[in-house]
Amino acid sequence: MTDKIQEAVSRYLDRHGYGSMDLRAAMFDMDGVLFDSMRNHASSWYQTMQHFGYTDFTEKEAYMHEGRTGAGTINIVKQRMFGTTATESEVEEMYRYKSDLFNTLPKAERMEGALEVLSQVKASGVVPMVVTGSGQKTLLGRLNRNFPDIFREELMVTAFDVKYGKPNPEPYLMGMKKYEAYADADMAPNNFIVIENAPLGVQAGVAAGVLTIAVNTGPLDDEVLLREGADLLFHSMSEFAEEWEKVVSVLKRGE
Ligand code: MG
Repeated sequence: MTDKIQEAVSRYLDRHGYGSMDLRAAMFDMDGVLFDSMRNHASSWYQTMQHFGYTDFTEKEAYMHEGRTGAGTINIVKQRMFGTTATESEVEEMYRYKSDLFNTLPKAERMEGALEVLSQVKASGVVPMVVTGSGQKTLLGRLNRNFPDIFREELMVTAFDVKYGKPNPEPYLMGMKKYEAYADADMAPNNFIVIENAPLGVQAGVAAGVLTIAVNTGPLDDEVLLREGADLLFHSMSEFAEEWEKVVSVLKRGE
């Protein structure tokens, strides 16, 4: 595995013209990485689409759209099935239906292995950050309850910080800016890694120029995440936790 990690890092460094990595902070996506929340989103999207007559939408497709706005997802599906985009009121009605369904589901649990990854990241002197498109008001409290003493509020990027959201690189560029302000020092993309589970999230990390680690916690084929440019892939947060020592030894040594 160390060879595979080394090769991936070398390819990243060559592609960007860096001599070495100098890892300072790890930017974690939240849904599907820190919380096992994607199955709730996927099933409520699926039921909503069926209810409104979008019968060719599958639960698996919901995972492809993770990170897209509700309107974006609805328009892609309507365009495909009916050759036209949805009206604003249609989008509103469908999104409300989806949110109501979602809110009846039990709260998502902490992702297995996530606490282990975060504890090890912190113990190795790398600063853990959250970069999410979510805009829940209680986000910080929920993160602190599930991952005590790991995150700092000034190092979080949420829906309130950004205009475009993933797959635009903006959230991750914002994360780097927040870390710069916190560390009071200039930073470059090779001071960071991104950890993502979704195709659009991987796109955002790669577009920000950051070494992007995919953790495939859902039903998509590995190939889908690798095609978007993921530098490394693990199949679960537990596997990532097991490999962290090797990963960090390469990322701090910089080869
Ligand atoms: Mg995610």
